[in-house]
Amino acid sequence: MTTLGDGVGDLEAKTGFASRTAVPRPGGSAGGWEATADLVVVGTGVAGLTAALRARELGLSVLVVTKADVTDSNTRWAQGGVAVVDVATGDSIADHVADTVAAGGGLCEEDVVRAIVAGGPAAVARLRARGTTFDRDADGGLARTREGGHSAFRVIHAGGDATGAEVERALAADVNRQRVPVLERHIALDTLRTPSGGVSGLVLLDPDGARCVVRARAVLLATGGFGQLYQATSNPEIATGDGLALALRAGAVVADLEFVQFHPTVLYTPGARGRCPLVTEAVRGEGAVLVDAAGQRVMAGVHPLADLAPRDVVSAAITRRMAAASCDHVYLDATGIDGFARRFPTVHAACARVDVDPTREPIPVTPAAHFACGGVATSPEGRTGVPGLYAAGEVARTGLHGANRLASNSLLEGLVVGERAAEAVAMDLAAGELAPLTCATPGDAAVAPVADRSLVQRLMSRHAAIGRDASGLAAAVSRIAAARRERALDSHRVVEDAALTLLADALLVAAAERTESRGCHVRTDFAERDDVRWQRSVRVRLDATGAPAVLAPALTGAA
Ligand SMILES: Cc1cc2nc3c(=O)[nH]c(=O)nc-3n(C[C@H](O)[C@H](O)[C@H](O)COP(=O)(O)OP(=O)(O)OC[C@H]3O[C@@H](n4cnc5c(N)ncnc54)[C@H](O)[C@@H]3O)c2cc1C
Repeated sequence: MTTLGDGVGDLEAKTGFASRTAVPRPGGSAGGWEATADLVVVGTGVAGLTAALRARELGLSVLVVTKADVTDSNTRWAQGGVAVVDVATGDSIADHVADTVAAGGGLCEEDVVRAIVAGGPAAVARLRARGTTFDRDADGGLARTREGGHSAFRVIHAGGDATGAEVERALAADVNRQRVPVLERHIALDTLRTPSGGVSGLVLLDPDGARCVVRARAVLLATGGFGQLYQATSNPEIATGDGLALALRAGAVVADLEFVQFHPTVLYTPGARGRCPLVTEAVRGEGAVLVDAAGQRVMAGVHPLADLAPRDVVSAAITRRMAAASCDHVYLDATGIDGFARRFPTVHAACARVDVDPTREPIPVTPAAHFACGGVATSPEGRTGVPGLYAAGEVARTGLHGANRLASNSLLEGLVVGERAAEAVAMDLAAGELAPLTCATPGDAAVAPVADRSLVQRLMSRHAAIGRDASGLAAAVSRIAAARRERALDSHRVVEDAALTLLADALLVAAAERTESRGCHVRTDFAERDDVRWQRSVRVRLDATGAPAVLAPALTGAA
């Protein structure tokens, strides 16, 4: 692996890639370094690594940076699989599009859905060519399972329920083979701005807090989601929404932020905080059912697809059942599944760690923050409205997910849009649309407002999870405002805290604006869906004071 634990000196030695010059640090002391590239990719999950590999194939000089180790990502935790059509099985692109749109609560952009879904088979073929091995069925074809909201068995998987680990392994290995430089443990802090408002590079903090600069014709954000905005989440520690904060500060528009998908089933343990092990939806796909403490089915009569209803429906039904019974979990009865440990080794191991045997007893489960349906508003090729700034994967809002993501469409989006974003950068470079390297300067994010992380998580979990109302949202806004202090962005932790604080503000603004219930956004004070007023995205941008503000509706209804 061309990793760069000691900074860019290693990078030069191993790849001959970057130029290095000393740059002044804030406060006047010497330190840091400066490097150049055509494209700097932020993030080493499915979207970032796919984009980097494609950019390399297209002949771009590309540098990948990640704030953690190369395989630390949401991607490596993905269990269920990748939703991708094989027409030979009787499935069709049209059916996958229809399922995605049905799950999306009226806010998917159908042309975008079609473009991404139709790109799936070729993207998966290239992923396999890069070395990813998916599970096979008895006939030697790809094994396919079914998940919530899917009308067909179309979700391919690897290692039973360890799909993301295999995808991440294969992409990281290929990045290594192709000698794409990856700078680990460097956190992206801010963008470099051109005089005309574009982006042309990044400011990073190295592991010791020294500022480093990458001048690049294009920056691709592939920083994943923000499950860590909540107390309990399926997401790992890296999921702090840094890319969204970076994009907002660079002048980009974000959209659909209020739609945070809560996965219906993470493994319940009393008082659990931080990353909670997921119990993949594929367990329900293979016959498990949700029951309450009395053994009553939770999903009976709630939705025609019962336990395989879209996630927003299942999470809301569980939340209602828990509220009615004044408890904090329900159960997933998977005792009828043959060969559970072989088919779901990750879930089985997580259960074993808390002394639950899924073959003999129901698994205690509860909903937890899982996926950001919204993000930086982009085209399906990853272009944001800011020249030089691109986004792909969970950080982006392409219009694929609408108000609620269909299961296993996320790895698909990372694969398809990751590639297309690299192609868009190459195209924009060739067309002379990207600023030269020399003219950019850092933005002014030397300090930023920061509220205590655990307070933010507590407030968001209490007031902006499943079931929100105007007074709770307003209370969260004012308590976070009261807790905010200007802090120097001089450590990885503070950069993340600043991102979470800004993101909380932006999400609360969007959630308060949407006075209806739709998809993952459930308002107890506006329980009905209101297509007349709200069949459109809420778009947010920073105003002149740096505060998130809702933009006037777009005429087309698109973000
Ligand atoms: C438990 C779990 C199970 C899931 N199961 C599935 C599934 O079965 N199918 C499916 O389609 N989806 C699934 N998802 C969702 C899916 O895994 C993610 O949406 C997807 O992997 C996101 O990929 P990404 O490339 O956008 O970002 P990620 O994989 O999250 O990668 C983000 C990268 O950005 C880096 N980064 C972040 N901020 C910075 C910064 N400031 N500076 C530098 N680097 C930074 C991180 O270190 C990381 O390398 C699951 C998610 C979880 C958590």
